[in-house]
Order: sequence, then structure tokens, then C-alpha cells
Amino acid sequence: MSSPWSKVSNEPVQTINLADIMSEQYAHRLHDQELKQQQKRRQQNETLPTATPTNIESYSNVASTSAKASQKPTLSDAGEWENYSMLLNDEGKEQTEPLPASLLSLLEDEAESDAVIAQMLQSQFDHEYNEELRRIERQQNKQSKVTVTLNKFLRSGDAEFLHDTEAGADEEDDELAYLKQDWDCFETNEKMLEAIPKCGFKLDKEGEMITKHDPQLCGVRNAQRVMSFPPEFPTGDGACFDMKLSNKVFNQLKAYSRRGRADRKEKVATAEMGVDAATRLLLYKLINNQILEQINGIISTGKEAVILHANSDASYTGTNEHGHGNGVLMPAELLPKECAIKVFKTTLNEFKQRDRYIKDDYRFKDRFSKQNHRVIINMWAEKEMHNLMRMQSIGLNVPDVVVLKKHVLVMRFIGDNHNAAPKLKDARLSAAELSCAYEEIVAAMHKLYNEAKLVHADLSEYNILWYEGKCWFIDVAQSVEPEHPSGLEFLMRDCDNIISFFERRGLPNIYTKEQLFEFITALNAETHNAAMLERIHTRGASINQATVPNQMECPDELKPLEYPFELAWEKSLLERQMRHTEAERDQEAKEEVEESIDQSETKLSNDTDNANNTAKCP
Ligand code: ADP
Ligand code: MG
Repeated sequence: MSSPWSKVSNEPVQTINLADIMSEQYAHRLHDQELKQQQKRRQQNETLPTATPTNIESYSNVASTSAKASQKPTLSDAGEWENYSMLLNDEGKEQTEPLPASLLSLLEDEAESDAVIAQMLQSQFDHEYNEELRRIERQQNKQSKVTVTLNKFLRSGDAEFLHDTEAGADEEDDELAYLKQDWDCFETNEKMLEAIPKCGFKLDKEGEMITKHDPQLCGVRNAQRVMSFPPEFPTGDGACFDMKLSNKVFNQLKAYSRRGRADRKEKVATAEMGVDAATRLLLYKLINNQILEQINGIISTGKEAVILHANSDASYTGTNEHGHGNGVLMPAELLPKECAIKVFKTTLNEFKQRDRYIKDDYRFKDRFSKQNHRVIINMWAEKEMHNLMRMQSIGLNVPDVVVLKKHVLVMRFIGDNHNAAPKLKDARLSAAELSCAYEEIVAAMHKLYNEAKLVHADLSEYNILWYEGKCWFIDVAQSVEPEHPSGLEFLMRDCDNIISFFERRGLPNIYTKEQLFEFITALNAETHNAAMLERIHTRGASINQATVPNQMECPDELKPLEYPFELAWEKSLLERQMRHTEAERDQEAKEEVEESIDQSETKLSNDTDNANNTAKCP
């Protein structure tokens, strides 16, 4: 017995033609019949010496039928079926005649006869199948406003069969017309649309004007457009039933197809970790250059950036196999094991919100105006890198920058074992820790402004991470220098965010936002109009709007306002200078006093020595 698990034999399977089998069987049958007949004849010869003419006729009948069938099969000849069945029937009428000469030709035609039978059976089947389809079609179209046709599923053998039947004679014309039907009406329609000249109208045979806005034409054009929607949009085959769509339906379909496209894009983007092809290439390069070993997944997706987690490559030695350092900003031994990759989003929408921060930053001023948005996004990433490094240089807790490639910034991951440190808003802090965090943030803001000459400009409990009992500052791409036209406004907003957070957490004895502002800048918010600036911010007006030179263009509630920064800044510099001069003067006076004390002490000791010497003298 053969087993399905056994080795498959490589011998080719021998195929035998069905016609061969049938003709062989037929030959056997004829041979048997012949033997029987010979036997009978022998018996008859003993009794009746002459043959009956009817039997000879029956053989010739068969032969002629076979010949006829090979030319053209018809069902109209009722006797033909009989002859076929007689040939096929084992229990057929017994042949009593000796073999006639026509039997030879019958054997030759036999294979063809089988083919004819098969064709006729197939035609019969096709006919019944098509009848059933038409019945379904009629049933479906009964109440529906949209007519469907199943023509494209009809079987073609049916027509051949009907062609020869008497019963189907009436339908013949219809069927032929159906076969000649324009299967792809779109081609015809296209020609029709092209026939409209550039002027937008033409005259038809009856002299009527047809414009390109003709509803019929529009319907056809819309249908064609729908057919060329992306392949994933299921349109069905509108071509085979001459579909026409009104503008309204078409517009809805178009809107729907676009919605689908957005969803699909979203899905693809999510599947690919939310980054586009160009970014993926940059990430692959980081892996190829042996800086990163693998990228593990998304930490956060925000409005402006996607943050990914990655492991650095332990085999990184400071140079890769090509001998390059690849722009890594730290020695190999300091490369953090876990990295966070910040990928800045490159869509225009997000960029619009950022340009306020970057276009007035003098560090980027010359480069801003002429660039396309992709380059500006790169500048944005560069800005984050510079700001992080500047903050680190004054001792603030920020992630170390590993490497920057275009809009992709790799930095140290704040957290352990793939777990990112919580944001301040999510961290569970004891009262003491909360107080520590407050002190730390206030000191950091002061340092940032006075030593690094920066204003964070998006400082809140969302952009401070709590890790190892300390605050870590992140998301500094938008940070600006205090000289930025909106610098003080941003600072006041930062103060507001921080004070509101600690107030909500119930920490006692904290500054008000104005006090914090004053502590940081040594500028009195009331005097220097910063509170007014903050109000402008909360009312949604930009500082530029409020300080527009032609005040007539400005809405009433926003004018007149004078931008106080220059004045405030100058004043604070003056104050500092004065403080400095005073301190210097104090120092000088002190030094003078000390010097005079020294001198008088020296004089005193000299006098004493002289006196002693005099006393000792004889
Ligand atoms: P966004 O512009 O989207 O706010 P952020 O720089 O604030 O971008 O990062 C978003 C989130 O990603 C952060 O709130 C933080 O949870 C996480 N994150 C960012 N940088 C790091 C980092 N270096 N280490 C750990 N987590 C980080
Ligand atoms: Mg953020």
C-alpha cells in the first residue's frame, strides 16, 4: 500500500488520452460482437444460408451518421441521438450481420464523434448555467435602483449550442447581438469624449449642441475616473455595464477614496515606527556605521517629533571599519548603552508653529529665509543639539548629545532597561522630593537665563523628567536667547507653567510667577511691562502684533503697547554695571585701607627695632 509519508517517486506519470481509452474499449466491444456474430453465422449457415438486407442497412446507417457528425453535429436529427446511444450502449441491438466495409470508416471517425458528444453536453450545461444566471439577475434588478448585470459570467459555449437548436432560433439574434456587444465601453466612451474639441462643444447629427458639461458626458468621464482610482479602492468592473456617475456621486467617492488613502498611509507609517523612508535610511546608516546596534520601538509620538528607543553598538570604538568618526560627539567609552532618538517631523503644519521660535533667533537668521522646509527642520534639530550642549556646559541635567544626522538627533536615554523616566507630571513625589524639585527648577531657570543666556520657552511638567531623584530638562529645540523679541514673553509663560504646577500640587511658600520672573531676570514685571506681555500671550496676540509700528492697523485692545525689552535690558545691564562698579570701588577702598594698615604696621615695627637698637647701644 502506498503511504503519504513515503519518498515521492521521481518517475513521470504516464498520461493516456481519453480518446485512446474509449477507442480501445470500442474496439474490444466490436471484437466481441464480431466473435458472437461469427458464432451465430456458423450456426445459421447450418440452417439459413442467406443474410437479411435490413441488418446491412443498419450498419450503413451508423456509418453515415458518424460521417455526418464529423461534419457538423445537429440535435434536430432525432435519429442521430438514437445512433449515438446505440453506439454507446452495451446492451445495444445485437448485430447479426457479417462485418461490412463501412465499419472501417466508422472506426476512424469514432474519436471525433466522442468530441462532438462532449461538445454538445458542454453546450447543454452552459445553456442551463446561463439560464440560471439570468434568473438571478432578474431577481436582483427587480427592486434595486442600480441595475447589475452578470453578463461577464455567462458561459460562451451556450451560444454555440443554441445556434443549432430549433427551440433557440428566436433567441439567436439576441445572443449574437450580445456577443458583439462592446465589452469595454470605456474605449468607445473615450473616443466620444475626445471628439469634443477644445472650444468645449460640438454639434451632433441632429444639429444639437453638446458641451463638455453635458450630463451624459460628465457621467461617462466620472465613471472613467473612478475606474482609475488606486487598485486598493474596490470599484467593481464598471466598464461592462456602461456606468455613468453624476458629479455628486463622483465627488463623494473621490472624498471617500482619499480618506481611505490617509488611513492607509497612517497604517503604513505606524507599522514602520512612524517614520518616512528618508528617515529610515538615516537610521539604517546609524546602524551600519556601528553607532547603534538596534532600534527597539517608539517611546513617544508627539505633534512635532517621534522618540525612539535604541541600543548603542558595544563594538563602537570611535571609528568605524571605514576609519571615520561619523560625527559622534563623545568618546567611545562614554557612549551611553541606551539611546533616545528624536526624529523631527517634517510636515509643514508642525513647522508653521515652530517658525516663530526660529525665524527671530539671530543664530539662524541668515539661514532661515531662503531655505525649504526640510532644511529648516534640520536647523530645528541642530538648534536642539546646540541648546542641549549649552545647557550641559553650565551643569544643568540634560541628556548628552550622541550624534546629529539631519533631522535625527540621538541622545542619552533618561531611564533604565527600556523604561523611560517619568515626566514630572507623572512622577510620584513625596513632599520633600516635591520641594527639592521646586528648588532645583527655580535654580535651573535662573542659571539658564543668567549663565547660558537661554529661555527654555516650553518649560512645564511635561518637559522635565524625574530620574534618580533629580530633574532632567528635555525638549529644548525652541529655546531662545533673551534678546529674542519674544524672549521675555516666553519666560513669563515658563514661570506661569512651573508655578501653576507646584500650586496644584499644594507646595507651600512658593513664588508667584511675577516673583519668579523677577528673581530670574532682576526685572520687575510690573515696571517692565512683562505682565502686560504675558497678558498679550494669554489673549492670543503676538508681540509683533502688539508692537506693530503703525498702531492704526492694530486692534484696539492691543494698542498702544511699547515693547519694553530694549529698555529693560539696557536698564538691567546698567544696574549690573553699577553694582559691579560699586563692588569694585568697595574692593579698591578695602585694598587701600589694608595697604595703609600694612604700611603703618611696618613703620611701627621699624620704629620699635630702632628704639631697641638705640637702647642696646653703649
Ligand atoms: P515633543 O516635541 O514631542 O514634546 P520631547 O522631546 O518632549 O518631544 O519628547 C517626548 C517624550 O519622549 C518625552 O515626554 C519623554 O517622555 C520622552 N523622551 C524624550 N527624550 C527622552 C530621553 N532622552 N530619554 C527618555 N525619554 C525621552
Ligand atoms: Mg515635549
